[in-house]
Amino acid sequence: MQQYAAVIVDISHESVDRPFSYKIPEELTGEVKIGSCVKVPFGKGNKLINGYVVELTDHVSLPDEKLKQIDSLVIKQDAVEGKMIALAAWMKKQYGSTMIHALKTVLPAKKTYQQKEKKTIELLLTQEDAESFLTECIRKHQCAKERLLRELIKETVLDYRLVTQKLHVASSTITSLVKAGVVTVKSENYFRNPIIAGKVQEKDKQLNEEQQVIIDTFSRDYENGIRKTYLIHGVTGSGKTEVYIRMIQKVIEKGRQAIVLIPEIALSYQTVMRFYHHFGQRVSILNSSLSEGEKFDQCERAKRGEIDVIIGPRSALFTPFPNLGLIVIDEEHENTYKSENVPKYHARETGLALAAMHGASVVLGSATPSVESYFRAKNGEFKLFKLTKRAVASQLPHVYTVDLRKELKEGNRLIFSRKLQELIADRLAKNEQTMLFLNRRGYAGFLSCRACGHVMKCPHCDVSLSEHKNGKLICHYCGYESRRPDVCPVCGSKYLLSFRAGTEQIEEQLKKLFPAARVLRMDGDTTKKKDSYEKILSSFSNKEADILVGTQMIVKGHDFPDVTLVGIIAADLSLAANDYRAGERTFQLLTQAAGRAGRGNRQGEVVIQTYQPKHYSITYAAKQDYEGFYEEEMTYRELSSYPPACHILAVMVSGKDEEATRKRAQDLTENLGGLHVIGPAPAGISRINDYYRFVFYIKEKDKEILFRARDDMEQEEAEREKKEITVQFDFDPMTSY
Ligand code: ADP
Ligand code: ZN
Ligand code: ZN
Repeated sequence: MQQYAAVIVDISHESVDRPFSYKIPEELTGEVKIGSCVKVPFGKGNKLINGYVVELTDHVSLPDEKLKQIDSLVIKQDAVEGKMIALAAWMKKQYGSTMIHALKTVLPAKKTYQQKEKKTIELLLTQEDAESFLTECIRKHQCAKERLLRELIKETVLDYRLVTQKLHVASSTITSLVKAGVVTVKSENYFRNPIIAGKVQEKDKQLNEEQQVIIDTFSRDYENGIRKTYLIHGVTGSGKTEVYIRMIQKVIEKGRQAIVLIPEIALSYQTVMRFYHHFGQRVSILNSSLSEGEKFDQCERAKRGEIDVIIGPRSALFTPFPNLGLIVIDEEHENTYKSENVPKYHARETGLALAAMHGASVVLGSATPSVESYFRAKNGEFKLFKLTKRAVASQLPHVYTVDLRKELKEGNRLIFSRKLQELIADRLAKNEQTMLFLNRRGYAGFLSCRACGHVMKCPHCDVSLSEHKNGKLICHYCGYESRRPDVCPVCGSKYLLSFRAGTEQIEEQLKKLFPAARVLRMDGDTTKKKDSYEKILSSFSNKEADILVGTQMIVKGHDFPDVTLVGIIAADLSLAANDYRAGERTFQLLTQAAGRAGRGNRQGEVVIQTYQPKHYSITYAAKQDYEGFYEEEMTYRELSSYPPACHILAVMVSGKDEEATRKRAQDLTENLGGLHVIGPAPAGISRINDYYRFVFYIKEKDKEILFRARDDMEQEEAEREKKEITVQFDFDPMTSY
């Protein structure tokens, strides 16, 4: 019998730490739910104020006579707060976290913010003068100026931040245009939309047949009160965004609002502007460059009904719209939709739960849908649509698969196969651009002894140190650094061998092979500084370089029409990861990377270098055959009981004392009765920062059983006195531990 309620009296991030306990009066038992708005006596004078119920319990630590009682239930029509609290409760149950953590995730951080300056760029020239200035820029190959001018001719006033961050125009370029009297920069001290609205109304495109089918079905369902989850499987450029926009229009017509989730890295200037042209001031953007205060402001605007659409990464899901009608999740297969922090929620699953609370629909879109979503679509749980053609005719790239074993046998010891070398040379001659792509940073060169085989490892973590060009060995997990030793610390041999096939080494070899080529590198090391990511992309799109070398970061979003060659250096690298999603991730990465080639009107080419040319992830990616891949992958998931055939709970136990930690993990598994447990075993990285890590997995078709097992373990943890060992849970993990 749950007769007590934890109530927060102020809906903000900070006060969720201090819920107050109240007794539920008899006549209200059963009526008071998580998320209910209640009137409670508060403070010395017992003034009645509104609060929200965040938890129901059957016991409290205070004696009954000290407890105050809930006065009454407040019936609020638009209690969006109540829905957010109910969502937090759902997250707590699904992902195992505390209610406080869950509440902090869904409620906006209330920050007193300073009014920020809002800068805009305005064109000073007449349309005619602007056109001739543009011609001048094109003649002088001033790409950044050209890009800005083109946009200004269309819009006349642009948001400063949008121009520097998304259009990749440096502030020095803008300053020089100001000096030349071409534009002026204005700043206003007000705090509204982080981006100003475009003035142009985009004319609606005539939808093609496949798009029309989706819109017709969606509209019919919506009119009839049918709320569903729709999955659009459509190749890149097939017009998914166009479809989202029409759906959002439909929902807005009905007086409701929409949330659009897009991985931040894919939120390009073009995408932002398209939404602006349709929804003007009624759309807002959330991204990581907004301050906490600005984010809070967006939430306030949403609550007050000033906006209809919000676009942003995962956390945009928690925008408190009073009458949410639609959630769009673009690139739904993306790993970034799963949070790495507690609660380790998945935005897709959480979005589905939120939509159910609001009676809203959900649209998922991807060129390479997650195996989970496709499975649910095939089961009939989601409605599946396909967009099979690019909306604006352009050819799919030609793909070559190169067997690296054969290269080596035939005497080529370089990182680049002969085919790739030949095509790079060809692109350099034609002044077209190339992107070279390495799946993983962590691979970057470890150092080992050729005499005794000793591998240089971090003294605090169970990982090999990476050798960097400056002669340092660095641990990518804890940041530990040491000098490269001259001799082996174990046997004293001076023959140390480095396996450096990181992005740095690719860059070095390129410079040797093609001394005249201008090469840019983008990886975790070159993008540590704020904005450096945008800077590298902008200089590449300004054609200040011929070749861009990078990790998966370069795969997403931005269109570079002059890129006609994409090289994947070692496609197998991401297969080596020892988790069940490795095949899926490899297929997605390869397919998306290949999609980077030939976006303009020239045919693109792709070279996939691999040691496993017969691996199904690689062969299907080369053929761009999603169905084929899915069928094969699903067979494997069924056989080994992996999601979506089954659910998995990962339990990570970590502590400083290796034996005690191992024993704790062992004890936990022994209490699990008849469940299907794998492990415990040392985690993939068995030690980080001197903490030993043991992991075990529980597989189970019925997720409620997993939740119960987790709740029992949590309960047990809460009752333990010694806290040197921590236990963390991850439901349907996206990464391996
Ligand atoms: P996706 O989101 O699937 O990558 P987009 O919606 O961005 O695809 O469409 C790709 C390009 O095709 C965009 O430039 C878009 O304006 C254009 N486009 C989309 N639908 C149509 C259509 N029905 N007619 C003409 N152009 C279209
Ligand atoms: Zn040695
Ligand atoms: Zn370390």
